[in-house]
Amino acid sequence: MSTVTVEEEDQKLEDATPQEIIEFAIGRFEPSKIALACSFGAEDVALVDMVSKITDEIQVFSLDTGFLFWETEETQRRLSDRYNLSFEVVHPELSIMAQAEKHGRQLYLSDPGACCNLNKVVPLEQTLAKYDAWITGIRRDQAPTRANSPNFTWDERFGLYKFNPLVRWTEDEVWDYIQANDVIYNPLHDRGYPSIGCAPCTKAVAPGEDPRSGRWAAFEKTECGLHADS
Ligand code: SF4
Repeated sequence: MSTVTVEEEDQKLEDATPQEIIEFAIGRFEPSKIALACSFGAEDVALVDMVSKITDEIQVFSLDTGFLFWETEETQRRLSDRYNLSFEVVHPELSIMAQAEKHGRQLYLSDPGACCNLNKVVPLEQTLAKYDAWITGIRRDQAPTRANSPNFTWDERFGLYKFNPLVRWTEDEVWDYIQANDVIYNPLHDRGYPSIGCAPCTKAVAPGEDPRSGRWAAFEKTECGLHADS
């Protein structure tokens, strides 16, 4: 019986490429029990391309909050047309109308934490319950809250293992990969949106500004609550 801990496995991956981390993941878990979380940002589309070149068994899923930019929906459609991967779109239990009746209109303004919980965290929890591990596109240099994110960890919050293959990459490395591999990306990135979430909670940022400063710009909030290890 192996006595290697997850922390030791994570340390061993500290020099691995993103592709090596994905290959490690499919060696460690049944590929059909691994999910790639995709919000169609630059990191996620790069991961979709990388995964597709390694296996077609990993399931890609996205959370459709009902508040996405149309450009994000178009990116999703184009990606699912190009790649031989299964893309699952996860919806919250209550429609926007039903949420407005129950919690009031524009919950994203009155209580963005509750809105993210209803539309992202709970649907994510329900989706991840089907899997043994998930892959995300978070990077350490995206935000101070992500500075210590591991390559591989046990995700206590959602009860499964988690891989972050791009965790040591810079934004430039992500874009070098996208350009070198002609990966489809969200056109909003070319219009001042380095980090793209829901339309009501995402603003364009000026060149040189913190890339995530356009997310929930009027609030203290900086994360959706999806990455408990960050
Ligand atoms: S990002 Fe905004 S609109 Fe989207 S779920 Fe969170 S609070 Fe609601």
